Amino acid sequence: MDNDLFDLKGKKAIVTGASRGLGRAIAVGLAKAGADVVVTDVLDSSETLEEIKKLDREAIGLKVDVTNKSDVEEMVEKTIDKFGKIDILVNNAGILKTGNAEDLSKGDWDKVIEVNLTGQFICAQTVGKKMIEQKSGKIINISSIAGLFGYATSVPYSASKAGVISLTQTLAAEWGKHKINVNSICPGVFATDMTDDYLNDKQFQERIKNNVPLSRYAKPEELIGTVIYLASNASDYVTGHSIVIDGGWTAAL
Ligand code: NAD
Repeated sequence: MDNDLFDLKGKKAIVTGASRGLGRAIAVGLAKAGADVVVTDVLDSSETLEEIKKLDREAIGLKVDVTNKSDVEEMVEKTIDKFGKIDILVNNAGILKTGNAEDLSKGDWDKVIEVNLTGQFICAQTVGKKMIEQKSGKIINISSIAGLFGYATSVPYSASKAGVISLTQTLAAEWGKHKINVNSICPGVFATDMTDDYLNDKQFQERIKNNVPLSRYAKPEELIGTVIYLASNASDYVTGHSIVIDGGWTAAL
């Protein structure tokens, strides 16, 4: 097989929500595959930056709230100033708010939709304008298996993630003519700060053991192969698709 197919050398990537968890693993994974990376988050991203710099790749860290249009515009400007182009956007920033549907407030609903769905739209639109000028680009939106089936006590989260799948399909339909690929990834359960409470819960551990065909949750690094695939030339004819990485959980439902 042509080894260059998955090579990201010379590519410039932006990853949102990259100070920890899946975002950090994605940013470091892209750098390992050769990309230079703009690491963004509302939190401090210095640990992610240090890991990337150890790989002899270029990286800059920016404080960016994905729901704030002027932050996102600045993110694009600074990326262009530093790297001259944007080849890859990974829309990863996200939050989880759980609770019974009858108890969640409108504020809970609005916040989750704003970060998880509106934030991805703002980033895709702002970066997308540059990619349209460039006539190339790969956008990877992080959804969730919660967007594919009814997972109790996560109404706003699940709705936001189903929205991400639709955002992905619709942007793919609009921007194919500009040679921009837009795909999403639906992770199952990965060990991060977001899932910490679940993973310490005995009942949830049993649920994973009994319902996930591979009988375990995943490490953040297990997402990287798919991100590299979707960011690289290997996926040039793939767009509007959502790839499920869940140890088989949804396949076995
Ligand atoms: P995490 O909480 O460890 O990391 C999320 C990151 O997003 C944090 O660094 C946080 O500061 C950042 N963030 C939150 N709001 C932001 C905002 N407004 N602007 C910029 N950054 C913001 O969670 P994670 O598990 O690494 O989740 C990453 C993505 O993967 C999320 O979109 C999440 O919904 C999705 N996901 C995670 C799992 C899992 O099992 N961990 C499963 C499915 C989907």
